[in-house]
Amino acid sequence: MYDYLIVGAGMFGSTFARLAADDGKTCLIIDKREHIAGNCHTEEKEGIQVHVYGPHIFHCNDEQIWSFVNRFSRFNNFRNQPISVSDGKVYSLPFNMYTFNHMWGVKTPQEAKEKIASQKLDLQGREPRNLEEQALSQVGTDIYEKLIRGYTAKQWKRDPKDLPASIIKRLPVRLTWDNNYFNDKYQGVPEDGYTAMFEKMLEGIEVKLGVDYLADREAWNAKAKTVVFTGKIDDYFDCQFGELEYRTLDFETWVEDTDNYQGNAVVNYGDSEVPWTRIIEHKHFAPGNKSEKTVVTKEIPATWANGKVPYYPVGDEVNSDRYEKYCELAEKEDKVVFGGRLSEYKYYDMHQVIGSAFAKYKSMV
Ligand code: UDP
Repeated sequence: MYDYLIVGAGMFGSTFARLAADDGKTCLIIDKREHIAGNCHTEEKEGIQVHVYGPHIFHCNDEQIWSFVNRFSRFNNFRNQPISVSDGKVYSLPFNMYTFNHMWGVKTPQEAKEKIASQKLDLQGREPRNLEEQALSQVGTDIYEKLIRGYTAKQWKRDPKDLPASIIKRLPVRLTWDNNYFNDKYQGVPEDGYTAMFEKMLEGIEVKLGVDYLADREAWNAKAKTVVFTGKIDDYFDCQFGELEYRTLDFETWVEDTDNYQGNAVVNYGDSEVPWTRIIEHKHFAPGNKSEKTVVTKEIPATWANGKVPYYPVGDEVNSDRYEKYCELAEKEDKVVFGGRLSEYKYYDMHQVIGSAFAKYKSMV
């Protein structure tokens, strides 16, 4: 009898397992995939750590979370400085003085401010009602049309008018020449990849891979006092209120016989005619990588269907209501607790998942 059976060896499950094991609890962690690390999983190809489920860049401000991950890996000094290709031109992201300079030729913050003011949407004091209003009121029409509208419509397959403003609030807007995508104090990528970091995190903890908890849940539940479920909450309840909707991505990954394909880890594509949202060149997540080849991935947004990987929760009203109903059922479970991106139906960054696992563990002991 284990103290905890943890379903899912991703960030939430592995953090929870580590905290429990550090307290002397016995844990069994299982995953239906054949690898640990969930969507953070990396695989080495041509001497390069490939982010198999899309780019993962660690960033946080929290000392405790940063110390926690540093127990399991050294982090390199990677700073995400994506660029966006639109209408044959290249712009810096997030929106900053380089972007404004390339867009309008302005050279000072004052000039940029005036240019934005001349074309931004005036909300007259009210809150933006959707993503389009949020973007137009922050950066004006030109940037919205070239760098936001097409990208967002591709990614979400919806008009930005029908999406919540919160989605774009993640992106900083700066009147400085600072291309760093994140504002956080601590940033980087694990030097030996995420999967090696997770291996360290799970040291001394029993792990079983390639097993489907839901197919035999009674037998699994009998093995532990408490079960921590980190999979899709709708799947746990047999989708009785309907499926929770996600957006997914198709990845096309290939090796290029050159040491540098696009000169940057992330290149976004703002044009709606280009089917992919971004191209990732994995070696650039590890500045100084010496491989003579390079591994490249195209990310093509796709409609989620069973068997695909759920990436972005579609947090509209229908899905949020559905999720609330599943939460009510979850509260009634006495032996099983829920946590993580798929159980909380939340678009989490990695550090937020760790924070959520810390809080959940603390609340339980
Ligand atoms: N976004 C955009 N243009 C870009 C990058 C992002 O319009 O070049 C918008 C888009 O709506 C996206 C949101 O900003 O869904 C959040 O982007 P982020 O880069 O944080 O998404 P992630 O890297 O998590 O996929």
